[in-house]
Amino acid sequence: MKCIVLGAGPAGLAAAVAIRRRSARSAAVTVVERRKSLHDEGFGILLNPFVVAGHSAGGFAWASRVFRRFVRWNGISVFGRGQGSVTLSGHPGWAIARSVLISELRAEAESLGCEITCGRPAAPADLDDADLVIDARGARHDRVPDVSSALVRDSDDLFVWLSTRRAFDCLTFAFAEVDGHLLTAHAYTYRLGHSAFIVEGAAAAWRAARRLAPDETAPADAWVRTVCERLFADVLAGHALDDASPTVQRFRKTGYPEDPTRKSVQVGDRAHPVHFSVGLGTSLAIEDGIVLGDHVAKCRDPREAIVSFDEVRQVRTRRAQRLASRSAEWLSTVTNRWNELSTPELAWSLATRTGQGTASRLKAQDGAWYELISAAAARRTPTVRRDAHPWSPLPANSSVPAPPPGGGLPLSIRPGKLDASSRVELVAVLEAVTERDVLCGTRYVDLRVHSDDLDWAEGQRLAGRVGAIAAADLERGPW
Ligand SMILES: Cc1cc2nc3c(=O)[nH]c(=O)nc-3n(C[C@H](O)[C@H](O)[C@H](O)COP(=O)(O)OP(=O)(O)OC[C@H]3O[C@@H](n4cnc5c(N)ncnc54)[C@H](O)[C@@H]3O)c2cc1C
Repeated sequence: MKCIVLGAGPAGLAAAVAIRRRSARSAAVTVVERRKSLHDEGFGILLNPFVVAGHSAGGFAWASRVFRRFVRWNGISVFGRGQGSVTLSGHPGWAIARSVLISELRAEAESLGCEITCGRPAAPADLDDADLVIDARGARHDRVPDVSSALVRDSDDLFVWLSTRRAFDCLTFAFAEVDGHLLTAHAYTYRLGHSAFIVEGAAAAWRAARRLAPDETAPADAWVRTVCERLFADVLAGHALDDASPTVQRFRKTGYPEDPTRKSVQVGDRAHPVHFSVGLGTSLAIEDGIVLGDHVAKCRDPREAIVSFDEVRQVRTRRAQRLASRSAEWLSTVTNRWNELSTPELAWSLATRTGQGTASRLKAQDGAWYELISAAAARRTPTVRRDAHPWSPLPANSSVPAPPPGGGLPLSIRPGKLDASSRVELVAVLEAVTERDVLCGTRYVDLRVHSDDLDWAEGQRLAGRVGAIAAADLERGPW
């Protein structure tokens, strides 16, 4: 079988590696990358350590090497309105230079015999004799050279990906107010002396920021860096933003139409961009590649592989997109919270914005904060309608019946013998469960759901899925 991969980002390279590993003798894999070098895009990214650990345990060499080079932290800092910063502990994060990830994936792909051609876009002739086309060309967010252009709507979500030498101890958020609009910075260190500094906001906020530029008529790349330096001077603490001419981009929220011939399959951002504020896009892109590799190996006909792959991946990607859109929605409506909340409350709201930070988990992570914020919430509740509450409410679902004995969660599974695809699926399931052990390095994974975290039906569904994943592996061989 001849496979052609369009794009050497995380999704394309992970697919190339996985297909060669799983179908080495029968699959020839060629990767075509538009850019000349694989090192010239992006700075640092947050990655899900469970996912990387799972791939490492599944035998992927790139994952073991990436795992060793993570920068880790354990908190979220928020710079509010002129009061310095507050820090919530117990929020772990892991980051790495994108170039390290890409070069590790590339090294493994080449060592497995994949052919990688850089410096030209994929051409129709590349696809002619391919049995399977893997479209991993990414989301390609629109460049916005002029934020005042009539084509840019006030509500459009625009971002710029900058970098700085300032080191951050935690995942750091800062807000800058310009003429009643807010720009938000997300900053994190991903390598010694290197931090990502992403600034995002609605086009209306960028238009207001533009008025601070010495020459208001200049294109965005000429003023964005210096204006951001000025707006975020407190969080940068005297450090510069490093990029000479950064690009303002409009975030693309949807994937591209699929090829109706079904000879081609989309992976990664091409299929499902997820807002960067949740740091999930790369993990998802890599998982796509690995799961596709499994399906290609299992199915004789590539078309069958495409159909079964799409079915399996939809569950996981929908969930990630749901989280990402909650986060994006929080950011796009942050001005209300900014106006009403103290910095500690704002920090708490931010940490719980995706709805994943359940009461029991947050309490365990930072009990003092939990008490403080709960007290503040109790004071507010009588005067604020629940649906208009300005910060994400903690779950208040206390009437869930106790699980019947012997069914559903809690349960234990032994992950040691799961194949790569099952590991990926399992991570997706584990993410929905409050108490769990890490996926590798332990003999068993314990799943327990607190009554205020998930409702009983959802707990049952998860338990069923875990059982199905484990059973599928049992069919393939003894544990
Ligand atoms: C500001 C920002 C911050 C982010 N931070 C994080 C984070 O912290 N954690 C995280 O997990 N994710 C993050 N993401 C998302 C992450 O970058 C993407 O989800 C991930 O890169 C998707 O991988 P991919 O391989 O699908 O696409 P891409 O990484 O976009 O790769 C696509 C590749 O295809 C190539 N290509 C395009 N067109 C062609 C063509 N015609 N022919 C050949 N090659 C082509 C491109 O040059 C590129 O190399 C962030 C995104 C943004 C914008």
